Amino acid sequence: MKKDYYEILGISRNATAAEIKKAYRKKAIQYHPDRNPGDAEAEAKFKEAAEAYEILSDPDKKARYDQFGHNAFEGPGGFGGGHHMNMEDIFSQFGDIFGDIFGGSSGGFGGFSSGRSSRAARVRGSDLRVKLKINLEDIIKGGKKKIKIKRLVKAPGTQYSTCHQCGGSGRVSRITNTIFGRMQTTGTCPVCHGTGQVLERRGEGSDANGMIKKEDIIEINLPKGVRNGVQLRVGGKGNEAPGTNGIPGDLIVQLKEVPDPKFKREGNNLHYEMYVSMPEAVLGTEKIIETPHGKIKLKLEEGLQSGKILRLKNKGVPDMNTHQLGDLLVNVNVWTPKKLTSEQKEFFKKNFNHPNFQPAPSKAEKSFFEKIQDLFS
Ligand SMILES: [Zn+2]
Repeated sequence: MKKDYYEILGISRNATAAEIKKAYRKKAIQYHPDRNPGDAEAEAKFKEAAEAYEILSDPDKKARYDQFGHNAFEGPGGFGGGHHMNMEDIFSQFGDIFGDIFGGSSGGFGGFSSGRSSRAARVRGSDLRVKLKINLEDIIKGGKKKIKIKRLVKAPGTQYSTCHQCGGSGRVSRITNTIFGRMQTTGTCPVCHGTGQVLERRGEGSDANGMIKKEDIIEINLPKGVRNGVQLRVGGKGNEAPGTNGIPGDLIVQLKEVPDPKFKREGNNLHYEMYVSMPEAVLGTEKIIETPHGKIKLKLEEGLQSGKILRLKNKGVPDMNTHQLGDLLVNVNVWTPKKLTSEQKEFFKKNFNHPNFQPAPSKAEKSFFEKIQDLFS
């Protein structure tokens, strides 16, 4: 069971912001690792107090905590409480906590006395977002695609050097004389912003960080069955970070599906409007459809009705997860001629009332709604 944040700081639920800050300051001094070397219990209490302060000093987080308790910060819906605070985070909070009462530094810069890491932060380059147009064939076949991007890289001639302020550690500490004794506080180096490096020389045409945009061709692996708006992340192919020990960001490829002129996609199924002539519908014939799966020969029975839907199994789009293929649904449209010769007209006039030409839908000729129901059953 997690302890109540107010209890940890020893304050009432009605404490003001100033009272919360004062209470935390007291606990932080009491349990500071430099005053309790090797005392694990003190360290745990120090962290606990920092976490409580992190939440209660933020009006939004405090309001959520007051309403939901610790549940407000747990699970995927929570917005991150103090659970992940490490010592570095805690010490970086100290600027605000002690700065205003104890005033400026009197001891100058001091070395590290605690055992925490003094490695500089690795700066991560920003993510690069690009759009990629894909057509139906790409979606069905998947596979390799090349994209041209422009990413930030270090310009030729750009040089970095170790930060003189922090000696490359990215952090500076100072000893302050306080009414409680000598205190050491640590914070991010103001000169290099924690990277441990500064720009020594800017390469030609580079920006303020020594970076330049460079064209690059990236090959990505397109999964089968993707949809419009799907984003593919290519690790490390985004913008590079300034400095020599940074890591590049990611490339995020947003897919833009170009509608196919012939086949209409509906989920994993494809719809195709097929037009047949009146003689073809009456006498039956063979039709060839060019599909993304290749040519498909369709045998049309005689007496084919307009509105019939022919289902071609597994000729649709693969499912993104299961790779199971959807179907190709061919909608039959019988084309009624608009211009006829007098002979042709004569033929239809002669047969105007002939029983063979009278509509007589049987049970087999399903209504539009029954067909739709069938498709989804
Ligand atoms: Zn520095």
